[in-house]
Amino acid sequence: MTAPDWFVLSFGAGLLALVVFLRFYHRRRYGTVRPEPVVILTYHKVQNRPELGGTWLTVGAFRRQMEFIRSSGLPVLHLTDYLDTLGRKGDAGRGVVLTFDDGYESVYTGACPVLRELGLPATVFLVTGYMGRSNDWDQPLARGAFRHLSWTQAREMAVGGLVRFESHGVTHRDLTALDDAELERELRESRAAITAELGRAPEAFSYPFGRFDARLMAALRETGYTYGIAVTSRPGWSRRTPMAVARTGMYLTDGVGALAVRLGLRSPGRYWAEDLNNRMINRFTLLSASVQKGRRSRHG
Ligand SMILES: [Zn+2]
Repeated sequence: MTAPDWFVLSFGAGLLALVVFLRFYHRRRYGTVRPEPVVILTYHKVQNRPELGGTWLTVGAFRRQMEFIRSSGLPVLHLTDYLDTLGRKGDAGRGVVLTFDDGYESVYTGACPVLRELGLPATVFLVTGYMGRSNDWDQPLARGAFRHLSWTQAREMAVGGLVRFESHGVTHRDLTALDDAELERELRESRAAITAELGRAPEAFSYPFGRFDARLMAALRETGYTYGIAVTSRPGWSRRTPMAVARTGMYLTDGVGALAVRLGLRSPGRYWAEDLNNRMINRFTLLSASVQKGRRSRHG
């Protein structure tokens, strides 16, 4: 064998060993995972402007995913309509739920036209203290900040009921780190603002950075929310409590192939890898929560 042959052989063996290790690690930690009958997808930005962080899709990639969902025949449900069926007896059947976190303006410019054209319902989680303003918690390396929806844009999107709005807090901070008074303010003020501006009280709350704990779940109930929405859940949580509903994040690197696996439509043997990928990216967003904490405390 020549030197390049040895190189290819040992590279391949190393890669195989890594996959075997990850498979073993994932099964030990999370057991056997399979897609929920109804898969809740999370998107952030839908834009053609490149960005260092991976929480965006181009408008074309988003359209291909939506067209794939449409052609799959899976019903696309409103988030709270689906969650309302969970407590009841009987099988909800299979389906897909579309959600957008943070309420970026690109949901209005990039995603909404596609949703309207294909008639797909979606839920947008708003950060009420940032309406019409620029983002300041995303990747610090990104040049130029991203704008959030204005109330006028949100009202326009709400017409007809295809897009619904729920709460993602007031300031997008890690709520598990706040004291009781600040925590209550985040839950209560965001709820009041959405009710006043859009005429419909939010029922669901998406946890900033996916961070939640027992105190936060109790505070949500007290403030009148019915559902707490996570990113990934601890194993079994989302089945046990409507305050820890798990979702699947869709990011820059996820194409139609990954989507098909996550929806349980293709290659069930690959599902664990998609699940691990989702959990790893969630860990990364926790890192950006601590970056934010550092920046905000420096700026006071
Ligand atoms: Zn968020």
